[in-house]
Amino acid sequence: MAATPRGTSPVPPDARPRLTVLSGPSGVGKSTVVAHMRKEHPEVWLSVSATTRKPRPGEQHGVHYFFVGDEEMDKLIANGELLEWAEFAGNRYGTPRTAVLERLEAGEPVLLEIDLQGARQVRESMPEARLVFLAPPSWEELVRRLTGRGTEPPEVIERRLAAARVELAAEPEFDQTLVNTSVEDVARELLALTNVV
Ligand code: ADP
Ligand code: 5GP
Repeated sequence: MAATPRGTSPVPPDARPRLTVLSGPSGVGKSTVVAHMRKEHPEVWLSVSATTRKPRPGEQHGVHYFFVGDEEMDKLIANGELLEWAEFAGNRYGTPRTAVLERLEAGEPVLLEIDLQGARQVRESMPEARLVFLAPPSWEELVRRLTGRGTEPPEVIERRLAAARVELAAEPEFDQTLVNTSVEDVARELLALTNVV
């Protein structure tokens, strides 16, 4: 099945929004889709977040995240260095403000991959942003993907699934929904939404 855009965007088609926010429940495939898209279109700039979460095998500092301690995260927040931040399943995550603003001022499209709480903050502070929700084909498939990834112990999976129920209920807040059935199809849809091509 092809990626299915649902809903209508309040952003007029000629407004060419340059800030795209991708959200969706943990395990739905956000990182997979974004990596696939950027393999062919490295010009799509993806913000690298700061997080207090420990790196998963293969994750690199400065590439996948800036892995920081609690004190450093406290400082980033206190100094206003984050565009948005949220606590998710026991860790804190935030978007470094300056890098994003520099790209936007240069007229370059920017992609953020953040959770629902972060997406809501961006909607408040930058209402021109386009909010895209990545949905699973079914709840069962989401559980399968999250469990199958094998990167979290059972109690963390439980926390992430509890968050997923809340995130799925918030889908109508987004401008657009893409259903992640095929990584290739969703990556193509997402590329079109970022207005790079
Ligand atoms: P997220 O970044 O949203 O937490 P990931 O990108 O880590 O999710 O994907 C979670 C798991 O689902 C991974 O094992 C990934 O390979 C798998 N996956 C992602 N997209 C699909 C898809 N369209 N079909 C099947 N498996 C997928
Ligand atoms: P993970 O630990 O699986 O990499 O990410 C957990 C959740 O945190 C995902 O929903 C991811 O999109 C979100 N996330 C990653 N970076 C940020 C960020 O900078 N801000 C917010 N609010 N959420 C983030």
